[in-house]
Amino acid sequence: MQVLAAKNLSKVYGSKKNKRYMALKNISFDIQPGDFIGVMGPSGSGKTTLLNILGSIDIPTTGKLLVSGTDIASLSRKALARHRIQHVGFIFQDFNLLESMTIEENIVLPLMISGEKPDEIAKRLKRLTEDLGISALLDKYPYEISGGEKQRAAACRALITNPSIILADEPTGNLDSKSGRQLLKLLEQINQSYDATILMVTHDANAASHCHSVMFIKDGEIYNRLHAEGDKKAFYEEILNVMRTFGGEN
Ligand code: ADP
Ligand code: MG
Repeated sequence: MQVLAAKNLSKVYGSKKNKRYMALKNISFDIQPGDFIGVMGPSGSGKTTLLNILGSIDIPTTGKLLVSGTDIASLSRKALARHRIQHVGFIFQDFNLLESMTIEENIVLPLMISGEKPDEIAKRLKRLTEDLGISALLDKYPYEISGGEKQRAAACRALITNPSIILADEPTGNLDSKSGRQLLKLLEQINQSYDATILMVTHDANAASHCHSVMFIKDGEIYNRLHAEGDKKAFYEEILNVMRTFGGEN
């Protein structure tokens, strides 16, 4: 079964006639287990809007979203909140770690909220933080660690619930190029060894070339979709070619 199926999703912002803005138009696609999909497109094209809807942070104006076969619209508010915590892991450009909590507290927060047993929390925390190489950071506060380390912690927090899908909105956007490369490697590792399904928005053709496929969005519509077939270098060139047709970004 697909992890996620988007059927004719549209999103209109604003209710007054003159302020209505159609940010997404009739978007349909499926995500299969283990996919690593990139999303690219000019600023303002609707990428974040799409991610927010896929992660049930926001609701579509029309269209349907199925996550692991469940129609999101059929869930009550409470069930939707539970669904989001259990099935979706988010990684944001600006990390979104709580400054008043330690890295450990930040990472386990989703499990605390969903009422997981303490020994299960401890077990998952140990395994994941060892795998992601951040065991030494657990007692530190976000302001005591680097951007790259913060994003590793955020990736750990996203993974700890064993989500059906990880949604990453420009996760390398605030990182220097070395930390950005490390994070991409980490996402690839998460995709391969945990078989995690990932959807990642990025402006960076090189980052996108690590994905299995790339969906291009323009003016709220799917404009093009590329699948990696050859090597990364060839895929990178193909991605650049599509980006050039957008005019000037990169
Ligand atoms: P991207 O992430 O591709 O830069 P967004 O999804 O953030 O694009 O935004 C798409 C369009 O929708 C933009 O024109 C933006 O100004 C508009 N938009 C985004 N969020 C809101 C909102 N909450 N209310 C009204 N308009 C919005
Ligand atoms: Mg955005």
